[in-house]
Amino acid sequence: VPTCPFCGAAETDRFDLEGHRFLVFACMFTPEVDPALSDAEIGSRLQKDFVEGGSKTYFRGMCDRLHYFVTAGAGARALNPAGMPAPDGATEPPRV
Ligand SMILES: [Zn+2]
Repeated sequence: VPTCPFCGAAETDRFDLEGHRFLVFACMFTPEVDPALSDAEIGSRLQKDFVEGGSKTYFRGMCDRLHYFVTAGAGARALNPAGMPAPDGATEPPRV
C-alpha cells in the first residue's frame, strides 16, 4: 500500500475520475497519479514528483485553488449564500 511521501500516512482510498486517478491518504494528501503505474512505481513517483520536484509548486497550487474556492468559487456561495455584507473590518476578497 502506498504511503504519503510527506508524513507516511497509509493510503485509505483511490478513485478514478474522467481518466484521472487520485490516491487519498489518511492525512488528506490527494495526489493525482498515472493510472498505469503499479503500487511500487507510485511510491517512487510520489517521492520524485511531489517531494523532490514540485512540492512547493504543488502546495502553492493547492493553496491558490483553496483560496479561490473560499473567496470566489462554490465555497464562497456556500459560506455566504445571501450575499451578506462583509463584517466590520473585513476586506473585500481579492478578485481572482
Ligand atoms: Zn501526509
